[in-house]
Amino acid sequence: MLLADVRTDGLNHDLGHGWMLDDGRAFFGFTPLASGPDHYVIATQGVAGEEPDLSLDYLQRTLEKASGRTDIRLHDLTWITLWRPNIRMAERFRDGRVFLAGDAAHVHPPTGGQGLNTGIQDGYNLGWKLAAVLGGAPPRSCWTAMRLSGCRSRSRSSGSPRHC
Ligand SMILES: Cc1cc2nc3c(=O)[nH]c(=O)nc-3n(C[C@H](O)[C@H](O)[C@H](O)COP(=O)(O)OP(=O)(O)OC[C@H]3O[C@@H](n4cnc5c(N)ncnc54)[C@H](O)[C@@H]3O)c2cc1C
Repeated sequence: MLLADVRTDGLNHDLGHGWMLDDGRAFFGFTPLASGPDHYVIATQGVAGEEPDLSLDYLQRTLEKASGRTDIRLHDLTWITLWRPNIRMAERFRDGRVFLAGDAAHVHPPTGGQGLNTGIQDGYNLGWKLAAVLGGAPPRSCWTAMRLSGCRSRSRSSGSPRHC
């Protein structure tokens, strides 16, 4: 999926806007950004069978194909990226004095909206355990087991394969 920040003339900034492409198999969408009255983030899969081009020109052509409109003009492309689903999990989250947390430990599909949430919980969970050990508690080995178990169940609920 192509993601990009642009400025656009010809759209009502109070609303998001979207059109389907390729008989409903893809879409072209605008989400308003608070940074300016004509600022939007674009998300689109592009046109089926075409290699997406990371350019304003490609976005403009795809928009016109999806919407049938030529009055919506895109300009001031700030950044553009090609995003692909990335679903992986480390075999263990600890090796000696090295701990993994966040996306370095587990990458979720964004559909469940769980990647950042899980990463913050990693930090919180690791933090109190390290503090407890520094406070005199015996070192625990539950970091990896607890976090692997939690991440596996979250990955399943957000559509990741069971083995990840
Ligand atoms: C399209 C999309 C939508 C998402 N939606 C949601 C959502 O709704 N809810 C949710 O909870 N999560 C969501 N996520 C996931 C969330 O963005 C990530 O889980 C989160 O940002 C991971 O944070 P992190 O700090 O672990 O890793 P990152 O944010 O990747 O931070 C790692 C940092 O390390 C830096 N770095 C890498 N290598 C080096 C190096 N060698 N030296 C120094 N620095 C280095 C990188 O530049 C980066 O800044 C979404 C992700 C995507 C792509």
